[in-house]
Amino acid sequence: MIVIKSEAEIDGIRKSCRLLARLMGEVEGEIREGVTTKQLDQWVYRYITGHGGRPAFLGYGGFPGSACISVNDEVIHGIPGNRVLRAGDIVSMDLGINLNGFFSDMARTFPVGTVSNEAKRLMDVTSECLDEGIRQAVCGNRIKDISAAVFSRAGKYGVVRDYCGHGVGLKLHEDPEVPNYCSLSGKNPRLKSGMVIAIEPMINAGGWEVDVLDDGWTVVTRDGSLSAHFEDTVAVFPDRTEILTRL
Ligand code: MG
Repeated sequence: MIVIKSEAEIDGIRKSCRLLARLMGEVEGEIREGVTTKQLDQWVYRYITGHGGRPAFLGYGGFPGSACISVNDEVIHGIPGNRVLRAGDIVSMDLGINLNGFFSDMARTFPVGTVSNEAKRLMDVTSECLDEGIRQAVCGNRIKDISAAVFSRAGKYGVVRDYCGHGVGLKLHEDPEVPNYCSLSGKNPRLKSGMVIAIEPMINAGGWEVDVLDDGWTVVTRDGSLSAHFEDTVAVFPDRTEILTRL
């Protein structure tokens, strides 16, 4: 069931999203060669709790971190740990905040030092996939208009199919699903005023296929190619769409 949010609820979600956008801006400065993903996770935990929020991912389904930190061929759901970041890595930070019961969700992929042109191109294209998807997230369109826009912008890159965007706001994951690829089957609801959704293309430099590691969480590309992940939470209004996770 898709929950239509009231103005007061969207205001609460907006505050959560704005805190998250500030966090994402600041954590970028902490991503550098030599830091471990666990150190980044602890930084994120302190930031969120220090601003009156709760890390939405911590304990969700048993997830052990405050942040999902996925490096290079890791697509999503990377568990923070002892991995040391190296120059040339790309790091996907997926973060969520529960602020007074209102949920936000956002991801960005960042370079560590100087990265390859291939990595830069992948990050640029994934970011553009997100922008193209958001452009279609307008009142009266359907979910698959978003999917088609993301998919077509990805071009020759592999668009991950096993995971997708989602409704968000009063819970971390709500209906509807927001796939990044086009399928003929499945629901295709119309976007209505008061809907809040997270759009989150996960794009691989190689094939679209992914596997889950034995830790039960970390999703990696099957062919070992690089992967990038960009996500924003947006609210749909009759005459405009607000990107809540951009300041
Ligand atoms: Mg999400």
